Amino acid sequence: MSERSLFGRAFVDGAVRDDILVVMNQGRITDVARVANPPAGAHRTHGLIVPGFIDMHIHGGDGADFMDADEDASRRILRFHARHGTTTVAATTLSSSAADLSRAVGTIAAAAADNVPGAAEICGIHLEGPYINRRNAGAQDVTSIRPADIQEIEALIASAPRLRWVITLAPEIEGARALIEHFRGRVLFSIGHTSGDFADAVAALEWGASHFTHLFNAMTGMHHREPGVVGAALVSASATAEIIADGVHVHPAVMRIATALLPHRVALVTDAIRACGLDEGKYKLYGYEITVADGTARLANGTLAGSVLTMARAVQNMVELAGLPIETVIPLATEVPARILGVADRKGKLERGYDADVAILTPRFHVEKAFARGEEVRG
Ligand SMILES: [Zn+2]
Repeated sequence: MSERSLFGRAFVDGAVRDDILVVMNQGRITDVARVANPPAGAHRTHGLIVPGFIDMHIHGGDGADFMDADEDASRRILRFHARHGTTTVAATTLSSSAADLSRAVGTIAAAAADNVPGAAEICGIHLEGPYINRRNAGAQDVTSIRPADIQEIEALIASAPRLRWVITLAPEIEGARALIEHFRGRVLFSIGHTSGDFADAVAALEWGASHFTHLFNAMTGMHHREPGVVGAALVSASATAEIIADGVHVHPAVMRIATALLPHRVALVTDAIRACGLDEGKYKLYGYEITVADGTARLANGTLAGSVLTMARAVQNMVELAGLPIETVIPLATEVPARILGVADRKGKLERGYDADVAILTPRFHVEKAFARGEEVRG
């Protein structure tokens, strides 16, 4: 890979700045500087140059799901989302049988080891279940839900030890406390798909959980006499939380409230499923059939089942629906998830020495071009 450079407005050091030259070489950003005259070979853009997006909760897209346990499926997902500006992901699984979960993790680990430039990089695995509460299962297969099992997690981690591990669990279920205390420091525990109350969530934070999965969705809401899991997140001094910013999972006003109460602690996620990028219609999610219509994915009973959101669209919604400034929103799709996933030393910023993960956004938040580890993402 030879040297390439981009020139235009860019999000650098927390602000949108004009006349920025971003130079990439050998998969890294080798220079970011304000220049009066860019070199002749630089790609000049009227869009906004931003760090590649990081999605810590993503199941699939373009017809593929990480639960397919198929390397081609993984490649499809990583290419599809890279075209929409996402250059790093925590591949996310669903509640499933032990055998299916182990197969999915094995395939994700292999795809992560491949790490092909020009597609999104897998830096982590997010197990969304199976240690959740069946009463708040959302679209997760209830027959696969089971008590937390330290042995099962030991074996899964051993099959992908170099990846960052995120586990979404319900703190009130059998074995949750022992699991969190056992893996504390090695696994990022996220509270979600829970029927627990405020006290349950506060206790889980004390045991070592530090994150909330799709805040507001599949958890107890905030009441002024019982603050619920949502209240525990919003009052916490250090916990981080995901928001699905499609404008349906969470009202735009609530997207603003969460961003205000958890400054630099909200990570935008897509929770995208295989239908993302395809026509509306019927699709399989592990265990269930879902219907995509009017931009939302639902079970037959109306329960939301992931999303068909891309991260570029999530960013657009935070600006256009929630009314937040772009300078506030970009870090929620870049720096914040990089920090949560432990890759902030090389991802999430346009800075010398960082991975050459870059997206160029048009004024309407389409992705004009994207680069993943220096290689242009091809349609
Ligand atoms: Zn999910």
